[in-house]
Amino acid sequence: MRLPRFEYIEPRTLKEAANALAADSKGSVLLAGGTDLLVSMKQRVIQPKRVINLKTIPRLAYISNGKEGLRIGALTTLHDLSLSRTIREQYPALTEAAKEVGAYAHQVMGTIGGNLCQGNRCRFYNQSAFWRGVRRLCFKAGGEICHVVRKPKECHSTYCGDLAPVLMALDSRIKILGPHGERALPLKRLFTRDGKRPLSLKKGEVLKEILIPEPSGKTLYLKWRLRGSLEFPVVSLALHIEKGTNGAIEGARIIFSGVGPGPVEALEAEKMMVNGLLDEEMIEKVSDQAVREISPMRTSIHSPAFKRKIAGILLRQALEQMMKS
Ligand SMILES: Cc1cc2nc3c(=O)[nH]c(=O)nc-3n(C[C@H](O)[C@H](O)[C@H](O)COP(=O)(O)OP(=O)(O)OC[C@H]3O[C@@H](n4cnc5c(N)ncnc54)[C@H](O)[C@@H]3O)c2cc1C
Repeated sequence: MRLPRFEYIEPRTLKEAANALAADSKGSVLLAGGTDLLVSMKQRVIQPKRVINLKTIPRLAYISNGKEGLRIGALTTLHDLSLSRTIREQYPALTEAAKEVGAYAHQVMGTIGGNLCQGNRCRFYNQSAFWRGVRRLCFKAGGEICHVVRKPKECHSTYCGDLAPVLMALDSRIKILGPHGERALPLKRLFTRDGKRPLSLKKGEVLKEILIPEPSGKTLYLKWRLRGSLEFPVVSLALHIEKGTNGAIEGARIIFSGVGPGPVEALEAEKMMVNGLLDEEMIEKVSDQAVREISPMRTSIHSPAFKRKIAGILLRQALEQMMKS
């Protein structure tokens, strides 16, 4: 499949990229590693007039320690993340998640920024124009129907990123640069939970950096996918637990990917863990609560009941691993 025609822009600074994007935000897209974007363009899922290549901007790929914890530049590749000794020693769950993305080629080309900002997916949307041509345009493509559910109210495309749950579990923040300056926000606020427009980035804004606070507690990432060699998660889970000196849990984060229009946090299950001890009884109670409250969305491939089952299995496995460690 060939790419459609487009104007190609090579900015030299992030500010130039933000201005170019703001000048025509509807017709322009940012290109990082291209592993998600170029496939969508070849399938004519999107046909931008202008492509702004972030890779021509120097010094956007880095992993360094700063006052605010670890700083990761948006253009750092997933392969570089997985090779980083600092990350392996301090945030091993992030190493695991980076190694779980697609196949080796996606990790070598794909960036952390592109991974967080990747589009939501749906079997009826991520297809060639020919395949999609037999159906009416869906919500995500600008139409007024969702092909996943019969009574359409909203878009049922799913967020399937591997890195977001782990980075949220680690309580990461992001820095964003736009035409009017820079702002920082908790990573979880990047996601709108609206399948049609899944990111909260404003006109001309570019993700610049990810900030991970000093390591504390333990984090695990588990992913269930159809093919081990190359696949988005059907469901994946990041679990983070902090314990006090007496062994009681002081804080927990439970975040799933693949079950909703953005990463989904099991807030009530997290609260249930605080001040308790991680034992068989707690594992049973917390897993039941988490699968009840995340209420997986009906997606184009698997039923909510199936996703709930997988989510429960992953969480129980993760909690058991934490209990034994
Ligand atoms: C066959 C296949 C399997 C895959 N498997 C997985 C998987 O298992 N897990 C997974 O998480 N992903 C998977 N992906 C998706 C993709 O490869 C990865 O998410 C990758 O990390 C995307 O990064 P990229 O740099 O290539 O992004 P790009 O393709 O360049 O960009 C993706 C999107 O992010 C936007 N963007 C990029 N950088 C920025 C920025 N700095 N600021 C604002 N917006 C930005 C782009 O405009 C675009 O909309 C898969 C893709 C394919 C084709």
